[in-house]
Amino acid sequence: MVDLKSMTPEELAAWLKDLGEPAFRAKQIFKWLSRGAASFDAMTDLSKPLRQKLKETALLAPPTVARKQVSQQDGTIKYLWQLADGNCVESVLMRYQHGNTVCISCQVGCRMGCAFCASTIAGKVRDLTPAEMLDQVLFTQIDSGAPVSNIVLMGIGEPLDNFDTVLRFLTLVNHPDGMNIGMRHISLSTCGLTEQIDKLAQHELQLTLSVSLHAPDDETRSRIMPVNRSVGVERLLETCRRYFEKTGRRISYEYAVIDGVNDADWQADLLARRLKGAPAHVNLIPLNEVEESPLKPSRRVAAFQRRLEGQGVTVTVRRKLGGDIDASCGQLRRKAMKET
Ligand code: SAH
Repeated sequence: MVDLKSMTPEELAAWLKDLGEPAFRAKQIFKWLSRGAASFDAMTDLSKPLRQKLKETALLAPPTVARKQVSQQDGTIKYLWQLADGNCVESVLMRYQHGNTVCISCQVGCRMGCAFCASTIAGKVRDLTPAEMLDQVLFTQIDSGAPVSNIVLMGIGEPLDNFDTVLRFLTLVNHPDGMNIGMRHISLSTCGLTEQIDKLAQHELQLTLSVSLHAPDDETRSRIMPVNRSVGVERLLETCRRYFEKTGRRISYEYAVIDGVNDADWQADLLARRLKGAPAHVNLIPLNEVEESPLKPSRRVAAFQRRLEGQGVTVTVRRKLGGDIDASCGQLRRKAMKET
């Protein structure tokens, strides 16, 4: 079966041409798919024979809601989607003043092995397809009725470990005939795969690159993030500087503050020193406790923030949303896996 939803309008046109269909059909079908059409029969402006042909050759398998949790505190909604093959991934809808943001997954599980993260505990099962990424945005919007204006690639998985798919997803979701979400409204978060960061820089996208740094020294970072063992903080930050020079986009560094691990004054000082020289922004994240991990949230977030600010670093502390509904990503999927 052909995965039409993962195709650009140009690719759709080429595919339709082989079927003997005119090019304008591509735009029609792309629009229907980008609006979350539930079946080919719903595409009422297509000819009946074409609809029949599509049904026979193409795949249309939207995800179903396996679980849904709505925060009573702030309206955050967490979705566990069941995909066509039975695997599940999570998305989260967050309501901010600047618009509704959906956080989506890019892989079923993750192979990066970060010590604090629930998504990686059972490893990676498979990559998602572009359509499966797009569907999370689309069906979050359809199910919740909340128009989505921002996307963050911060759910389950490592986006740069599924590079081509993520790039294609960005093209689709950004397309004027599709959801038309601007690149400046999209953030991509990576654990720091340097070769892929360099590769991404070549595309000069206007999205925000977030780098999960979590420690300024190699000893600590290698301990909590295995990816650091082969690259190291210095080379990662050099790569980030190159990225900024190429794209002009300021990088956002994520830093989950962990009790007794990365929250010492000397680590704030080293972080400030290492970030000097290129515009950067540090986003401190209060650690979400993961059942399987002994790591605890730091009690020094405010002190750590002040110490960084005192040295000229721009710092924000991530507001905790959906505190009453299984906060951090990966946890709902794990819970569901354990129960079944
Ligand atoms: N693989 C990508 C994106 C997914 S994780 C990455 O590593 O960036 C999105 C962000 O949440 C990352 O910064 C990640 O380090 C962070 N994170 C994961 N588990 C967390 C936890 N338990 N508490 C706080 N932040 C966490």
